[in-house]
Amino acid sequence: MDNCIFCNIDKSRILFETTEWVAVYDGYPVTPGHTLLIPKEHHETFFDLPDRLRESLSFRLNDVKKILDDKFHPTGYNIGTNCGDSAGQTVKHCHIHIIPRYDGDCENPRGGVRGVIPSKQQY
Ligand code: AMP
Ligand code: ZN
Repeated sequence: MDNCIFCNIDKSRILFETTEWVAVYDGYPVTPGHTLLIPKEHHETFFDLPDRLRESLSFRLNDVKKILDDKFHPTGYNIGTNCGDSAGQTVKHCHIHIIPRYDGDCENPRGGVRGVIPSKQQY
């Protein structure tokens, strides 16, 4: 996919890679250390991944966490993946956001990923 930015990743952003996955710092980080875990094969969303990649993903998430813990010492994490336009996906190559969180990084973190619809974050 010549015109896909995640099929043509800037090597300088890479934290680590395996034969199947590459972890890169997000270009517009929400917090320090915001990382994207991206399969090297082009699949549009998480739900399009073959079983083999969905299985290895859980291990690679922990690999990313270890690196971010060492480098950034966050106090929490949000993990998420946007699937489809309605969910806000902008790059149509599957990627999982790993967003380190820090005590006090926003006024009231309660609800976390519920904030995809900001008015529904608190309950
Ligand atoms: P999504 O809205 O889930 O598709 O997220 C796309 C993510 O890719 C956003 O968080 C962007 O900040 C990030 N992004 C866009 N372009 C680049 C790039 N060239 N390198 C690294 N991250 C990027
Ligand atoms: Zn791609």
